[in-house]
Amino acid sequence: MRTVYVNGDYVPEYQARVSVFDRGFLFADGVYEVTSVLGGKLLDFNGHAARLERSLGELGMSSPLSRDELLAIHRELTRLNEIDEGLVYLQITRGAADRDFAYPEGSSPTVVLFTQKKQLADNPIAERGMSVLTIPDQRWGRRDIKTVQLLYASMGKMMAKAAGADDAWMVEDGQITEGTSNNAYIVKDGKIVTRQLGTEILHGITRAAVLRFAREAQMEVEERPFTVAEAQTADEAFITSASSFVMPVVRIDNVTLGDGAPGRVSRRLREIYLDESLRAAI
Ligand code: PMP
Repeated sequence: MRTVYVNGDYVPEYQARVSVFDRGFLFADGVYEVTSVLGGKLLDFNGHAARLERSLGELGMSSPLSRDELLAIHRELTRLNEIDEGLVYLQITRGAADRDFAYPEGSSPTVVLFTQKKQLADNPIAERGMSVLTIPDQRWGRRDIKTVQLLYASMGKMMAKAAGADDAWMVEDGQITEGTSNNAYIVKDGKIVTRQLGTEILHGITRAAVLRFAREAQMEVEERPFTVAEAQTADEAFITSASSFVMPVVRIDNVTLGDGAPGRVSRRLREIYLDESLRAAI
């Protein structure tokens, strides 16, 4: 039985309630963050908190809780639910109001947090590498805002599953934007290529950390779009996200990369990311 946080209270999950008039439910009018826990500590909490503030700001919402209050709730839930390895999910919606497309005035935000135990560091896919299916990117145009409007990502995961792939990479105007729930990278001649930040992709917190570590390790990084064909002729590919860290990609549609095993750069970046983020975990 988990304890969840709802609007100021820590309650057993079966007692947690949100209104049917909540705009998160009616309009997907809400934002979220997922922070990983390793060894009972939060990875990159400040990065997630900063992106949350930005997402809220883009939707004209102000944060109902300070960063310190949010950190305290994350820590308390991790403790109460005895999370050694797993995730803390946080969602803030505009709150409940009579149904109207225009934002209501004076609604109070709904704040929900819960945890999930999950084995993250020891992931067998990191050893064998994953396969991705390319699909058209049919999401809305403000992918830089981390909203709970995730239906196309779910559809993409289902398309991948139906095709026997582990995940999908989305393509727009001939270029890969990102994965359904992760950022996408290729490696060619030792150079790491990933799409530049903009409204077309989510500004991954793991992406920011991995690019910083790569540059610190004197690896060359180029932030620009790349095509499916370029990805299929790359030496390596990988994805990043808060819950998968760095995960090698070994197959794109029907093309196997290199010798079909996780590449050297991807494996090295996973190691560095795990070491460095564990060191800085709070
Ligand atoms: N892109 C999308 C569409 C995502 O949903 C996610 C994960 N939420 C990411 C990228 C990776 O972001 P992060 O590294 O902050 O988890």
